[in-house]
Amino acid sequence: MVVVYAVLGETATLIDTGNPGEKSFYQLKSLLKDHDLSFRDFDHIIVTHMHTDHCGGVSLIQQEASLPVYVHELARPVITGGETEFNRINLFFSDFLKECGADPAVHQHARKYKEEIWQNVHYVNEGDEVYIGGRPYSVLHVPGHSQTDILLIDELQGITFVGDHIIPELAVNAFIEPPVPGRKHRPSPLIQYRESLIRSKGIKLGKCYSGHGLPFTQHNELIDKRLAQQDARCQQILKVLKEGDKNVYEICQKVYPHLKGKIVFLGLSQIQGHLDLMEARNEVMKEERDSIVYYRVI
Ligand SMILES: [Zn+2]
Repeated sequence: MVVVYAVLGETATLIDTGNPGEKSFYQLKSLLKDHDLSFRDFDHIIVTHMHTDHCGGVSLIQQEASLPVYVHELARPVITGGETEFNRINLFFSDFLKECGADPAVHQHARKYKEEIWQNVHYVNEGDEVYIGGRPYSVLHVPGHSQTDILLIDELQGITFVGDHIIPELAVNAFIEPPVPGRKHRPSPLIQYRESLIRSKGIKLGKCYSGHGLPFTQHNELIDKRLAQQDARCQQILKVLKEGDKNVYEICQKVYPHLKGKIVFLGLSQIQGHLDLMEARNEVMKEERDSIVYYRVI
């Protein structure tokens, strides 16, 4: 289930836009109609992060009602970079799969470039204020699940839109992403994600509205649970590596044996994220052999 929020107050604001494509667009349109709303009734759209199930509807909605869209600054290269950026991202993932010891021909999604134009984009940063339903919310940048994740916090009302940063129903992945254009090294998403989670723990978020599932409170307990799950996964990987050196693909086959075909990427991304963390903790070291990276226990 993907959640889109229509927040009504002095104004109406749309948070996230659902999946790309006409089916999702018309579904959302008819859901709004059930509440006597149309896209034209909204002041703007805020995108919690640049995953297609959250930002996929932007261009179709803008074609119908030219609403401004707010999104984190790190979304700028994808939104403005066109085919060049698309190709750079594809090449990054192809190289990443090879480095893992996986075959891009089998495990990489063959995506075709489709031009998508966003208009009237406002890029936000940590500490900015955005208006939702006519009330000011502060923006907190919480990279990890994606590089563009933001929390939208109304401290006075005790309401936070958390996107996919924390979801009670599922343990959120921290996805491997390319470096921003011009940088050499990719981010370490799980390390970032844990830092962001620990940061969120220190903040009163009140009632949290996530991108998948029902609203919840007690985010601190949930964060402790997620951090412990990640530590347990590191222990599992360590156990696999004690049998001998392995590349990310080999570890993935042991840890997530059910993953096949294109979705293997999800497992590789997870394993790599944990290995980054274990490397930072001096638990493992890596070595490149024939362009494939192997990990061993220290
Ligand atoms: Zn997401």
